[in-house]
Amino acid sequence: MVAARGRQFLHTPGPTNMPERILRAMDRAAMDHRCPDFTRLARDCYAGLRWLFRTEGAVLVFSSAGHGVWEAAFVNTCSPGERILMAETGAFSQWWKEMAEGFGLAVDYLPGDWRQGADPAAVEAALRDDRQRAIRAVAIVHNETSTGVTSRLAAIRGAIDAADHPALLIVDTISSLASMDFRMDDWRIDVAIGGSQKGLMLPPGLGFNAVSAKALAAGQSARLPRAYWDWRPMLPNGRDMDFTCTPAVNLFFALKEALAMLAEEGLPEVFQRHHRLAEATRQAVRAWGEDGGVHLQSRRADEHSNSVSAIRLADGHDAEAVRALARDRFSTVLGAGLLRLRGRAFRIGHLGDLNEPMLLGALAACEMALKAAGVPHRAGGVQAALGYLAAPAPKGGAT
Ligand SMILES: *Cc1c(COP(=O)(O)O)cnc(C)c1O
Repeated sequence: MVAARGRQFLHTPGPTNMPERILRAMDRAAMDHRCPDFTRLARDCYAGLRWLFRTEGAVLVFSSAGHGVWEAAFVNTCSPGERILMAETGAFSQWWKEMAEGFGLAVDYLPGDWRQGADPAAVEAALRDDRQRAIRAVAIVHNETSTGVTSRLAAIRGAIDAADHPALLIVDTISSLASMDFRMDDWRIDVAIGGSQKGLMLPPGLGFNAVSAKALAAGQSARLPRAYWDWRPMLPNGRDMDFTCTPAVNLFFALKEALAMLAEEGLPEVFQRHHRLAEATRQAVRAWGEDGGVHLQSRRADEHSNSVSAIRLADGHDAEAVRALARDRFSTVLGAGLLRLRGRAFRIGHLGDLNEPMLLGALAACEMALKAAGVPHRAGGVQAALGYLAAPAPKGGAT
């Protein structure tokens, strides 16, 4: 990589920027995880996580990438050969589905075009068709990080209720937690899956399962093999977790700081900030794309992601060339297009520890890279974004 002056702009949708406060919180010696100080720290973190997931249920913390807690959700609730319903939203739904199939689960995979979220009507129809009530779980990626499309979880919940189906609702909120509205208990989600390296502004390394009483009960009879991921020994009282092995102690120091920072800003304010920065990004993309050279991968206005935008280039143009230029000449790291979007789209992560001038820097780097790569686009995307951001922030909650 070319030596560069100044700071690099990190706009992958995970890992994300880590604030100084979080780096400093970790910068200390580890402690005995069986001493009272650590027990207190862990309890504070569980309370903070319950607040963040909006749940009264238990939250389990694993030393893990997101993939690990994906696995934990299945092995603790399902048995070999059981049916689950999933929706094709993009690369993450695809990889998660393949994991389920690897465990011998029979996945009904509702097809999608990678431009829209899970379709509540299709979920309802599939559940109504299941007269035997054999489908064990509906598993949905809340924010599909490969496409920048958010599924409408309240409507999915409504679809399950309308079909009067007892399936568990399992949701991947890895790239929406602490960036977008998420309500575990209101939406009666049974397992919510989170990770540390996205909206929480932490290093990679922690994975979360927030679990409902219904999920815990299902776990008693689930028969997929499980050992490291087994919830049961970790939750002797059904609420606060016991460690069966060494926790990532220093990441807990950081987690406590991250939760404090989110509480100081306020969750509605955090969501509103993400909405504004995302909308500014979308205004820039629309301005670039007026002649059809680039467009947002997300199609529906009520499904645009507030944590990541995927930008699709006209056929014949190479998104990897745009990414290489942004990285090597303009010190800005963008996300790659994944699977079928490889080379066709790049992604701007706009989640976590981010403000207006940071985002404008990234958008300026994108505009320069589009120009340098010869991708047809209109100038003026950055101008559109700063016009939007300069207008007074609307009063009221996040949209
Ligand atoms: C990042 C991400 C994952 C995977 O997380 P890893 O830590 O890379 O395993 C899964 N789902 C979604 C929606 C993500 O954004």
